[in-house]
Amino acid sequence: MTRPNQSVQRLYVDTPLSDNASLSLEGNAAHYVRNVVRLSVGDALLLFNGRDGEWLAEIDKVGKKQIELHLVKQTRPQQQGGDIVLLMAPIKRDRLDYVAQKATEMGASRITPVITRRTQNTKINIARLSANAVEAAEQCNLLSLPQVDEAQRLDAVLAQWPDDRVIIFCDEHADLEAGLAGLQDLKGQKIALLIGPEGGFDASERDMLLARADTLAISLGPRILRADTALVAALALVQSQIGDWRR
Ligand code: SAH
Repeated sequence: MTRPNQSVQRLYVDTPLSDNASLSLEGNAAHYVRNVVRLSVGDALLLFNGRDGEWLAEIDKVGKKQIELHLVKQTRPQQQGGDIVLLMAPIKRDRLDYVAQKATEMGASRITPVITRRTQNTKINIARLSANAVEAAEQCNLLSLPQVDEAQRLDAVLAQWPDDRVIIFCDEHADLEAGLAGLQDLKGQKIALLIGPEGGFDASERDMLLARADTLAISLGPRILRADTALVAALALVQSQIGDWRR
């Protein structure tokens, strides 16, 4: 895989990208290009929107409010992203930025903050989560972004859970071998990962989850991990065993 030219700044835009299109950046994007990376007329950018691949763009005009560009060529076609839903009990705010970035880098396609009985942080700034996901995608040469949902109660999410998606419940009490064996059986199936808050799941939540036919409890090893560590460990395990690390 040829690595795209790292020196050219990558920017996520939420506008269609096609041959010979022109577009203008406003607001934060314009400020970032003009005042942070200090680009000027004739400079190049790599733009992506999660749908049309990645495009080389050239700056035509740097105005007070807007930056005008035209697309030169498509540098990478859009690739089908993975399909892993992350059900994550929100943890304290400074770690949530990390969660959004690592979930994006590790290939989560959707991030749904779920409020559980022991969740302390119920005020989740979704715009901040999304901004961290965008930043991770821009910096890690990704072409797509996870969808970030508003926070919902876990039982409400489960009450309307689709019947074609298995929930992989990260449970520090689960049997390691059973979890790994069960994971192999999920090859090719739609999956979600569920990770609890700093205080974990309470007994009734755990019983409810273990009773579900669509849920597999997996252990992430003999040590109790912080929720944000568990996130990366779980995504690495799932991606390596049944995910997109294997072509
Ligand atoms: N209940 C734990 C703390 C929870 S850690 C305690 O005894 O203090 C936060 C979340 O990370 C858990 O709810 C679980 O989803 C996940 N997690 C942490 N360590 C894990 C492990 N070894 N195996 C599986 N999941 C783990």
